[in-house]
Amino acid sequence: MRIDIITVFPEMFRGFLGESILSRAVRAGKVLFRVVDLRDFARDLRRTVDDRPYSGGPGMLMKPEVWFDAVESLRTPEARVVLTTPAGEPYVQRKAEEFAACEHLMFLCGHYEGIDARVREIVTDEVSIGDFVMTGGEIAAAAMVDSVVRLLPGVLGGGAAATANESFGRDGLLEAPQYTRPPVFRGMSVPEVLLGGDHAKVENWRRGESIDLTSRRRPELVK
Ligand code: SAM
Repeated sequence: MRIDIITVFPEMFRGFLGESILSRAVRAGKVLFRVVDLRDFARDLRRTVDDRPYSGGPGMLMKPEVWFDAVESLRTPEARVVLTTPAGEPYVQRKAEEFAACEHLMFLCGHYEGIDARVREIVTDEVSIGDFVMTGGEIAAAAMVDSVVRLLPGVLGGGAAATANESFGRDGLLEAPQYTRPPVFRGMSVPEVLLGGDHAKVENWRRGESIDLTSRRRPELVK
């Protein structure tokens, strides 16, 4: 998979893409990242990418021509061009799975007061990571990149089961509570069933806990 990130702050991605699972995925040839500076597509010596909004209002808006030039120079016919915006469709695990099946993803990170609305014409998806406003789309893009790359075959140990049994996985529920050693910590015991080694009983317990937790915290996820 190829992932392009277009931003005015490319340095923000250096540490993030160079650590842990993401850097391992790059080394294993599962994903190729290109972080592109939007200012490289500016048409003046000062590398301007923003301007005052029509009809006034506070702050600056990102100009359409730099985004059109950047996207048109990088896109491939199969590319999904993802605009980060609070007005986008809410990002959920199903969307991560959909993106993970793509050959080429492009993330457009807005900044300042946002982006000229005409840029919506060249995107395939508009996505929000939640009902709150951040200063830029970089963290939104980073969250999506991370959740997509860990779904690529061979990136996580344990194969498809590693992600299918997680929260929002195959059954769409939250994952049951998990425990590791020691069996008793500060008077809190690991549930007996998990110590017994009976796989059928463990599966049954997990399923019940998962339904119970989801019903209490996210009832809308229980079908
Ligand atoms: N004026 C815009 C509004 O009210 O919707 C907010 C612009 S925000 C300060 C600047 C940029 O941050 C946006 O263009 C977008 O790229 C990104 N952004 C902020 N919050 C986001 C969210 N919840 N999800 C995705 N992107 C977000």
